[in-house]
Amino acid sequence: MIELEHIEKRFGDNLVLRDISLQLAEGSVTALVGPSGGGKSTLLRCINLLEIPTSGSIRLGTEKIDFVPGKPVGWDAIQKLRRQTGMVFQNFQLFPHQTAIGNVMEGLVTVLKWPADKARARAMELLEKVGMAHKADAWPATLSGGQQQRVAIARALAPSPRVLLCDEPTSALDPELAEEVVEVLSRLAREGTTMVMATHDLRLASRVADTVVFLDGGVVVEQGGPRGIFSTPQQERTKKFIASLS
Ligand code: ADP
Ligand code: MG
Repeated sequence: MIELEHIEKRFGDNLVLRDISLQLAEGSVTALVGPSGGGKSTLLRCINLLEIPTSGSIRLGTEKIDFVPGKPVGWDAIQKLRRQTGMVFQNFQLFPHQTAIGNVMEGLVTVLKWPADKARARAMELLEKVGMAHKADAWPATLSGGQQQRVAIARALAPSPRVLLCDEPTSALDPELAEEVVEVLSRLAREGTTMVMATHDLRLASRVADTVVFLDGGVVVEQGGPRGIFSTPQQERTKKFIASLS
């Protein structure tokens, strides 16, 4: 359902992603792991076109874009592909001047032009899904980090994206608050939400992901099921990284 072919991303002279090809099935959950600076965030940002790949192609459902150096991609194509993704950030990034439900409704009302009643009903449904319905009218500043992240997940899911992208969704949270976010993500995974997440949190990766992709130096060093990768990594670089975490 998501197909990345020969994705390369360059920032000036810095080749940050080198020839990344990945195929992600509908309903699959992929964890991107690896050392800091390895290209995890850049890869996520390329999937939703917050960064435009230098070359390669991305297919998401029925939308496909080929990236050719020196040939800018049209804004319409970017919008079409981006609307099939939802993104969750490490630092939640809720709109501070909107309540929890306001955050979830915002994109539906302003971008998709849904009537407020319909957007409110959809937002409430999603807040229930992430266990935040009781805080619908709360301001972000009054919520814990775990609660803010759960609202951010609801917001990302509001327009029914084909894929939920999460960049270090638990990294800013104490273990206890991280746990409530892991629980929400693992429930979404069980319900068949297609997800790609960058994470340092091996517990999150092993509980939620069916595929782990180990990225280092902008290349896919190794990929496979979480058990295999974490207990019997094949590549030296993967072994070192796993050892460094324990
Ligand atoms: P990770 O998420 O695995 O820590 P990143 O994708 O953030 O890795 O970074 C990979 C490399 O890309 C790093 O060398 C980083 O400095 C570089 N990089 C990321 N974003 C930019 C940018 N906007 N401009 C220039 N270099 C960038
Ligand atoms: Mg990162």
